[in-house]
Amino acid sequence: MKFPLISDIASTSVVSVDINATVAQAIDEMINNNHRNIVVKDHNVFYIFTVLDVLNIQTSDIPLETKLAEIDLHKISIIDRDKNVLDALEYLNDPLEYICVVNKDKSLYGLITHTDITSNIDPDTLMDNFYLEDFLKLGRRVKWVGKDDITLKLLDAMLHGSFDNVIIVENRKPIGILTTKDVMKLIKNKSNLSLSVSHYMSYPVDTISKSATIKEALAFVKEKNYKRVVVVEEDGTLSGIIGQKELISLTYSRWAVLMKEYQSELSEINNMLESKNREYELIASTDSLTGLYNRHKFSELYLSSYTSMIQRENAMSLIMVDIDFFKKVNDTYGHNVGDKVLVQVSHSLLRTLRNIDIVCRWGGEEFVMLLPTASLQNAEILAEKLRAGIHSLDIDIVGSVTVSLGVCEVREGESMEDAIGRADQALYLAKKSGRDCVKTELDLQS
Ligand code: GH3
Ligand code: MG
Ligand code: MG
Repeated sequence: MKFPLISDIASTSVVSVDINATVAQAIDEMINNNHRNIVVKDHNVFYIFTVLDVLNIQTSDIPLETKLAEIDLHKISIIDRDKNVLDALEYLNDPLEYICVVNKDKSLYGLITHTDITSNIDPDTLMDNFYLEDFLKLGRRVKWVGKDDITLKLLDAMLHGSFDNVIIVENRKPIGILTTKDVMKLIKNKSNLSLSVSHYMSYPVDTISKSATIKEALAFVKEKNYKRVVVVEEDGTLSGIIGQKELISLTYSRWAVLMKEYQSELSEINNMLESKNREYELIASTDSLTGLYNRHKFSELYLSSYTSMIQRENAMSLIMVDIDFFKKVNDTYGHNVGDKVLVQVSHSLLRTLRNIDIVCRWGGEEFVMLLPTASLQNAEILAEKLRAGIHSLDIDIVGSVTVSLGVCEVREGESMEDAIGRADQALYLAKKSGRDCVKTELDLQS
């Protein structure tokens, strides 16, 4: 038993149209084939066009003669038909419910949905791919006797062989069954045990073919309210007997073995999902140009730093940095060079600061730094280092740039906005004082 391949579970009744077809042609194809969606092909790239898209088009006055290439379609991921269903787990992250299944040459084979993936790693579905004969190969024992055998002999066999039931056969075909329960009744009723079993057996026997699946067998015992299934060969001869409990427990233990076999792959998938999550978190918390924290993440980090500042009775300071005459850099050398300056300045800030300091791109060419455990004096020294570091940079065609810095110490009980406001005022003073310098909140008072 194995997890199914993508090709086993894909729906191949998929209809596709070329991206150069019109909306009207796509709708025709959907109607003719009675499909709720259709795949749009652009060479080896696939999109999906659904009933919802049709509705959208109708409500937004797009003419039906518009080419599919001109409308906004949802691109769908592709997966090789030879892959295992476990390989498809990563696609459950996709916002789209559909995944395109492709042949080796990347041509379209079919479609699978998220539900196809999840239901095919479900033990219940796996039972559908597992046949009774696989169980019988495991060496299930069955006791069978002829219809003329003496009942007492059979009782003996049951006791010694610890069989719960005995099948009575004629020409190897099951014609009756006697269970331990039946035998107890015989003893209680003081029945004549020297008579042949044909007097006491229950008949006829409901049988199930060994080519049935475990799922069918379980449905069978449920429907008939049996505790076991009598399994027969294609020609009706006795093959074996399987209890209901065995059916369930063996299937689940098989499932457990299977999961173990695939454990390394599953943990790989897990790792991948985790690193994806970390990636997403990074994207959400950083500025894409400089890689520094964005405002959103900074506010979050500020709160936790503020809490530990209070708890540990430490100092904590803020530095605000603004590049001087940055507009001129953009105007003279262009926006791309301006971007390079922003990146270089960011790197310089990171190089100079300590590991525990938090650097944020506050916006445009402004940066805010949070320095846990630093007093105003410490922060002023650091700020001076930052200023000197940036002044000494030699950036591309620009040469050197300068920055102005404002420093303040965070006060107990004040909001982040208030603290940043004071750093900003100190920065404004630095600008007014000729730029390329550091001012602190103490300078504001004088
Ligand atoms: P000051 O010394 O007074 O700070 O002068 P300034 O020219 O630096 O000040 P101003 O705030 O007027 O200009 C900031 C400029 O930064 C304006 C804007 O075009 C530019 N800017 C903001 N974000 C970016 C960016 O991501 N990339 C680039 N290249 N420029 C940016
Ligand atoms: Mg500015
Ligand atoms: Mg500026």
